[in-house]
Amino acid sequence: QIMQSSRSIKKLDPDVVSRIAAGEVVLRPANALKELIENSLDAGATSIKVEVKDGGMKYLQIVDNGCGIKKEDLDLVCERHATSKLESLDDLQSVSTYGFRGEALSSISLISNVSIVTKTAEERCGYKVSYCEGKMKDKPIPCAANQGTAITVENLFYNVPLRQKALKNLFEEHKRVQDVVGRYAVHNASVGFSLKKYGQNHLYINSMNNTSTKDVIGLIFDTNIARNLLEKEGSDDTLQFKYKILATSLIYSAKQMIFLLFINHRLVKSEGLQKEIAELYNIYLPPKSYPFVYISLEMPSANVDVNVHPRKETVFYLHEEYINKKILTAIQQLVLGKDAYQTYKQET
Ligand code: ADP
Ligand code: MG
Repeated sequence: QIMQSSRSIKKLDPDVVSRIAAGEVVLRPANALKELIENSLDAGATSIKVEVKDGGMKYLQIVDNGCGIKKEDLDLVCERHATSKLESLDDLQSVSTYGFRGEALSSISLISNVSIVTKTAEERCGYKVSYCEGKMKDKPIPCAANQGTAITVENLFYNVPLRQKALKNLFEEHKRVQDVVGRYAVHNASVGFSLKKYGQNHLYINSMNNTSTKDVIGLIFDTNIARNLLEKEGSDDTLQFKYKILATSLIYSAKQMIFLLFINHRLVKSEGLQKEIAELYNIYLPPKSYPFVYISLEMPSANVDVNVHPRKETVFYLHEEYINKKILTAIQQLVLGKDAYQTYKQET
């Protein structure tokens, strides 16, 4: 029998610790892209162009026409906890922007090669910088550029071999990338989104000429979905929340449910709410058929805890049961046409 000699405990190298943490924020290319899209939206972009190679593993570029990054901020953007969106802990209560922890770019730059070309309205030319492990490699180089920011992420997970091995299915990664772009395109119908593969002309997504949510849903998902969408907006004074719902009527059904949920403009998941909605439709639809449902929920940011999840996918909100019930009732009225019935009653 071999005796296992006890190993001494050693503190991990801080670099290793940050790289592990970075892997928590960025699980796969689609997560990185979500963060980058949110940054572009925060910057007020009306056009967001995405280009990927190998599902984003080899190359992931996002070009926006937002406010740009100031030249003097360029050495900070990839450092941990560097943000222009939060100054004190009090601000945490009222964040209206997507990002606020200054963690996305630093995490991405720890596990890939990031370069940025950016130009603000004040600057006469653009600047280009490359980063290595969150640090600027050289001083910003002046270059020609349009107003906005182009961020290029290359060789994602080059220094995380295990992750690289786990993400071998590039088709799947591309699908997820396309899904993220599509969902943000639906939620931001007035922003033009495009997606293409590196070196190709074919656009997998192009919402540049669409302005209504319905049109973009038709474009991204299915025109048959768009044709059968019912729309409802509402609010609740007690808890001060607003909702907007676009859900398919009972004429439509599909083998799989498509569920888009945005809370305070952030793409999130709520398996609970999704299940409740599926069960509701289940009463009226044939067995094993499902709806398309898009919900945008806005509530006081103090009621949303976006901090529970490193990738901000799952959010907790206060009064979840009450809010979910309100939404279910609204969907039920919408698909059963009770709204129409009630206006009819009021009129007669
Ligand atoms: P956060 O979004 O939490 O502030 P990030 O790491 O995502 O942290 O971004 C860091 C900072 O870089 C942002 O606060 C912002 O000032 C700047 N930034 C990042 N992307 C863009 C962009 N596309 N346009 C303008 N500024 C950007
Ligand atoms: Mg951010």
